[in-house]
Amino acid sequence: TLPKIKGDIKLENVVFEYEKGRPALKGISLDVHAGQSIALVGHTGSGKSTIINLLSRFYDITSGRLTVDGYNIQDVKVESLRSQIGIVLQDTFIFSGTIRDNIRFGRLDATDEEVEQAAKAVDAHEFIMKLPGGYETEVEERGSALSMGQRQLLSFARALLADPRILILDEATASIDTETELKIQEALKVLLKGRTSFMVAHRLSTIRHADNIIVLDHGEIKETGNHNQL
Ligand code: ATP
Ligand code: MG
Repeated sequence: TLPKIKGDIKLENVVFEYEKGRPALKGISLDVHAGQSIALVGHTGSGKSTIINLLSRFYDITSGRLTVDGYNIQDVKVESLRSQIGIVLQDTFIFSGTIRDNIRFGRLDATDEEVEQAAKAVDAHEFIMKLPGGYETEVEERGSALSMGQRQLLSFARALLADPRILILDEATASIDTETELKIQEALKVLLKGRTSFMVAHRLSTIRHADNIIVLDHGEIKETGNHNQL
């Protein structure tokens, strides 16, 4: 079992093949200190999602090492790893139930007050209060009554409440209006604070938030640096 982590992450010459002989990652080395944010950028098929998949241990690496706080993730219980990783995916996962249940998912012990605090911190409280039933409003699985941006803010509130040391964000490519975009950027700042994060980033504004940008190309690191350097 992985003890409570700080969030240091190290990849040492990580190779991964979905299919034998066709490496999707060809020896990635990366040293990420607890609290740092990493933006993964690169063309389609360059290996961004693969890195995230390995971190969450959806697959076992082919060769090399991936450690969290010095623990090889191959050697720890998957649940003890995943319980400390927050994942915000592209297609934000909303299930049938109330808004409150959706935010509380993953922290079932959270009080109503904690749920609302998390929503306020990411500026979701305002739109929630405008819904017919406030926090008790029932939403559908596809979240059709909610806009893309609102769903994103809900998933941020959920992640904030769960308070994981490591955060994984696979940013949606869908375009959103400028006002929502600004809101999301502000919320992202709150969410990233004090956590190690990996963001598959499409928006320049998101990339700007990152301490380090990793440019991937055909499964290799092509360039690294912050926004000013690249
Ligand atoms: P995108 O921007 O399109 O999401 P990506 O950078 O996330 O691309 P990956 O999904 O990591 O790219 O894919 C890296 C390589 O691995 C690609 O060549 C892809 O075809 C291959 N690949 C990805 N998932 C699988 C899979 N489940 N089975 C086999 N090959 C896969
Ligand atoms: Mg991808």
